[in-house]
Amino acid sequence: MIPFEYRTPKSLKEVHATLQEFGSDAKLIAGGTALVIMMKQRLVRPTCLVSLRSVRGLNGIEMKNGGISIGGLATHRAVETSPVLRRRLPMLAETYHHVATLRVRNMATVGGGLAHADPNQDPPPSLIALGATVKAISANGTRVIPLDEFFKDYYETILNPDEIISEVIVPKLPPNSGAAYIKFLPRTADDYATVSAAAVLTLDKTRKTIADVRIALGSVGVTPIRARAAEDLLRGQPVKTEAFAEAGEKAKEAVDPVSDFRGSAAYKKDMAGVFVRRALEKALTDIRQQARAKAAPKPKPAKKKAAKKKGTRR
Ligand SMILES: Cc1cc2nc3c(=O)[nH]c(=O)nc-3n(C[C@H](O)[C@H](O)[C@H](O)COP(=O)(O)OP(=O)(O)OC[C@H]3O[C@@H](n4cnc5c(N)ncnc54)[C@H](O)[C@@H]3O)c2cc1C
Repeated sequence: MIPFEYRTPKSLKEVHATLQEFGSDAKLIAGGTALVIMMKQRLVRPTCLVSLRSVRGLNGIEMKNGGISIGGLATHRAVETSPVLRRRLPMLAETYHHVATLRVRNMATVGGGLAHADPNQDPPPSLIALGATVKAISANGTRVIPLDEFFKDYYETILNPDEIISEVIVPKLPPNSGAAYIKFLPRTADDYATVSAAAVLTLDKTRKTIADVRIALGSVGVTPIRARAAEDLLRGQPVKTEAFAEAGEKAKEAVDPVSDFRGSAAYKKDMAGVFVRRALEKALTDIRQQARAKAAPKPKPAKKKAAKKKGTRR
């Protein structure tokens, strides 16, 4: 590694001032799990690392306007174990649980992961399917970017070097919605996906027709991929498993995987179709389970035991 300065600003204002001081030679660092490896490999050679870890107020996870706000500095482990997410959006907590190992999840941050933009990562497909947006703050202002417009190319986003991901906002899902993320892991449990798929399905009031759907895939292109044509095929259709298989076939047209040690391009393309179908089926199961849980009679509060009367023994 080449020598570098290490700064630990305490506020976003100080972060921006440091970035301005060092210009394009500076690099933000959060958990460091991706950046340090890239520095060791000399793929990036910053003269200054600007740590975000002392900046307060960027790691909360809370309900906001009916949706959920996740701070850019929240760790993967915090998302995985967040009581709010486990209750309101277990699919997202589960997605972060699928990332690497506990050691990595304890350090890696939500903002760092998205800015890293490796197309094999787990969270992007789920967040895209959920309709999440990213809040990016620079010295010149704030912009909110839909996540399905955020990834530009292999390890590249539309963020400017001086923009900091301060928050990820996941909107409230409409009634009768279910969500699922599945990851194909034929090698080891802590590996990157060979193929991954996320689906968010919304049914109409009767729960017989698909009102809306969002599908996204990982590890099958230079960025995470939204399968829009497959979504179009499903919207307005009656709920039928055959339709999910057709959507899977359609999704295959949107992907462009590369052959590597996790599988050939042809194999990954086929698995993309299978995983889209399975993700849709799982999202439907999620809707049905939620409906059953809602309809189930609430357990009555336990009756207090009647006090034993004295002297009534027979
Ligand atoms: C052994 C190993 C296994 C892994 N396996 C998986 C896996 O199975 N699935 C998966 O999804 N991921 C996996 N990962 C990747 C992991 O998710 C990323 O390394 C991690 O998310 C990066 O987050 P970080 O906070 O450590 O980022 P850093 O390494 O600190 O930074 C990464 C990049 O983001 C920039 N950055 C950081 N924070 C911000 C911010 N708030 N705003 C703007 N830019 C920022 C940095 O300048 C840098 O360019 C693995 C990583 C390792 C090391």
